[in-house]
Amino acid sequence: MWFFSDDERAVQQVARQLAQKELAPCIQRIDREEGFNREAFRKMGDAGLLGLVVPTVDGGAGLGAVAATLAMEELSAVDASTTLSYLAHLILCVNQIARNGSPAQKTRYLPKLISGEWLGGMGMSEPEAGSDALGMKTRAILRGRHYILNGSKTWITNGPVGDVFYCYARTSEGRKELTSFIIERGLSGFSSGKKFEKLGMRASPTGELVFDQCRVPLENRVGEENQSLAAMMRNLDLERITIAGISLGLARAAIETATRYSRERCQFGRPIGSFQQIQAKLAETSSWFEACRALTYSTAKAWDEGRLTAREASLAAARAKLQSAQMATHVALEAIQILGGYGYTREFPVERYLRDAKLMEIGAGTNEILRLVIARQMLGEAATSPAVAA
Ligand SMILES: Cc1cc2nc3c(=O)[nH]c(=O)nc-3n(C[C@H](O)[C@H](O)[C@H](O)COP(=O)(O)OP(=O)(O)OC[C@H]3O[C@@H](n4cnc5c(N)ncnc54)[C@H](O)[C@@H]3O)c2cc1C
Repeated sequence: MWFFSDDERAVQQVARQLAQKELAPCIQRIDREEGFNREAFRKMGDAGLLGLVVPTVDGGAGLGAVAATLAMEELSAVDASTTLSYLAHLILCVNQIARNGSPAQKTRYLPKLISGEWLGGMGMSEPEAGSDALGMKTRAILRGRHYILNGSKTWITNGPVGDVFYCYARTSEGRKELTSFIIERGLSGFSSGKKFEKLGMRASPTGELVFDQCRVPLENRVGEENQSLAAMMRNLDLERITIAGISLGLARAAIETATRYSRERCQFGRPIGSFQQIQAKLAETSSWFEACRALTYSTAKAWDEGRLTAREASLAAARAKLQSAQMATHVALEAIQILGGYGYTREFPVERYLRDAKLMEIGAGTNEILRLVIARQMLGEAATSPAVAA
């Protein structure tokens, strides 16, 4: 993109090299075994990728949404599920502590999260509160110098393996009155619940977080009581922009594989790329991909430059995420079609791209919820809809 800075291009290069060296050799095995590439996070720490969006005064690179989205695109072109875990760490946990944490919280958590010694995640969704995130029930009650948390979070990326989670809980009856807490593994009454078996994103462990009379020190509350909603929503917008980068990486990899195959595979004595129906697929998928890429990076750039009001940011982020997610699933399906029987097998990675891409239409706001967000911004009160968060 013409407006990428030298620093952003450097991030793109670093992420591309790291993906080839650390992710490419093992993703097929980890996907099959539903494991986790913990070592890759230490390497990402060494390469400076885990503090990309953290201000330099706090030990980060001081970059923004464009750089983070570029990293997502490059890493996910090789391994989208480790990239999903990276997104949960960088955007949902590290960024939230950097933006909203006290000096003491930043000092305690950021160095180890930025180096890769600790792995982060974020707990918002609950068994009965997914799209309706404001319906969360996890409760925090102050008792002396501790909060007592009861409840559970579910589908939490890095839940089974993470060390630190940025979690939201209810501290009063009001639907919008949420409070943030930093939850450390080892706190009394905190545990990981079940780990989910998944269709895709299998190298990104997803699980429950359980709070059973969990004692959280007062110092772990982030900001004031009942004041976390705005920061949660703003972080969701940033998540939607940067996760669109994962859709872009998946789609790019699918298009590259399909293009190569179209040149090499011969039927009826000719490369299949000489058939107009195959050409049409390549032309359509690559055009939709480029449109989504332009939309996503221009949204990220506008975000970094502070040119968007909160409403504009939420609208633009929803559009970029919605289109990129649908595009990635469609492109992965078309790539499987171009590869024919081979596309349906594990001989080629396109079936993994499809399994991974489908998550892009569910996590960080489903397609349906994003359409609601967009229509509500366009129509205002005329679009009667529930108060939607996730
Ligand atoms: C792999 C994975 C990783 C995740 N990581 C995290 C994480 O790290 N942290 C976290 O907090 N959460 C995480 N999530 C949770 C994710 O954000 C939710 O799954 C998502 O918000 C949808 O919620 P739900 O699954 O409860 O679906 P539901 O809300 O139950 O929705 C079910 C269906 O109904 C539709 N629907 C719901 N409401 C409406 C409406 N008003 N109008 C029209 N249709 C509607 C939905 O679009 C969907 O099709 C993750 C999920 C997955 C699968």
